[in-house]
Amino acid sequence: MGYIPNEKRYNSITYNRCGNSGIKLPAISLGLWNNFGAEDVFENQRKMVRRAFDLGITHFDLANNYGPPPGSAEENLGRILKKDFAFYRDEMIISTKAGFDMWDGPYGNWGSKKHLVSSLDQSLKRMNLDYVDIFYHHRPDPETPLEETMGALDHLVRQGKALYVGLSNYREKDTKKAIDILKQQGTPFIIHQAAYSMLNRWIEEDLTDLLEKEEAGCIAYVPLAQGLLTNKYLDGIPSDSRVAKQYIQSLNEKDISPEVIGKVQKLNKIANERGQSLAQMALVWVLRKKSVVSVLIGASKVGQIEENVEALKNTNFSEEELQQIEKILK
Ligand code: NDP
Repeated sequence: MGYIPNEKRYNSITYNRCGNSGIKLPAISLGLWNNFGAEDVFENQRKMVRRAFDLGITHFDLANNYGPPPGSAEENLGRILKKDFAFYRDEMIISTKAGFDMWDGPYGNWGSKKHLVSSLDQSLKRMNLDYVDIFYHHRPDPETPLEETMGALDHLVRQGKALYVGLSNYREKDTKKAIDILKQQGTPFIIHQAAYSMLNRWIEEDLTDLLEKEEAGCIAYVPLAQGLLTNKYLDGIPSDSRVAKQYIQSLNEKDISPEVIGKVQKLNKIANERGQSLAQMALVWVLRKKSVVSVLIGASKVGQIEENVEALKNTNFSEEELQQIEKILK
């Protein structure tokens, strides 16, 4: 029998308006950067996407290069959508990005119109979609004029291949310039995708103020520091973890330093006192920021998604808890 989603899927999660746009995003979104490529088990990927949707997660985030190999996460999502979600596309927000290295030659990366337009066409084919809901420029390009890159985003919206556009990994100054250009072109900027967690707080320096002023949303990626902000590395490196997987290079043994583990142990204690797991506390801590509309988690198992969604049952922090956390993070 085919997949029938949980009838109560909209009862358990919060949906936050993304800036002053018309769309709301779930407070927790699922990213397919790792664990959704050709090296991973397809049936597990399918289970995770189905369970996420059953729990009210409507937003799934991709990029042209997610895998490995690059492109395979989009292909796998395309297969899952075809098998299970044919009737539910209108309940989903699917995003993708272009800008990192994707194919050989001078048009396979960065921010030219040539790269962005070709890359989105490829992504749509891989996912077997007519359009994506959000299309991002994945990283700033030091050479291509911002007018050209933003012009390409505007063009793709006008073509109907993307409904909304966003930027990722742009610092405050370029974000402001890009927002102004997009305004002139008539395609609103609605979302910035930026790394933000207890262990990486760069966006607090200036970006969040700008986003609030411009009434744009922030979706925070890597909120669990790839798993460091959970209890999984407290007693060594589990064999099924990201660090142990040879085909994933983004988190290594050297990242599990005694200094980080020392902080994680202290944070874990506060989380337990709040009646939460560390992963849960780390997620709601990110969501405490006004401009953060969604935390973009990754997962390798259904149980992690379930645990993370439960975090939304306790999103409040006392002043004392916040101060204790600040002291640890200093
Ligand atoms: P996280 O920080 O959420 O790390 C996810 C990993 O943490 C999981 O794979 C799992 O590790 C572990 N984990 C998750 N929940 C739990 C839990 N409850 N208990 C124990 N361990 C847990 O984010 P990711 O690094 O996966 O990135 C999330 C998304 O952000 C990406 O998929 C992508 O969409 C986006 N992103 C965007 C970037 C950009 O440049 N725009 C760059 C990077 C990411 P394990 O696999 O070891 O089980």
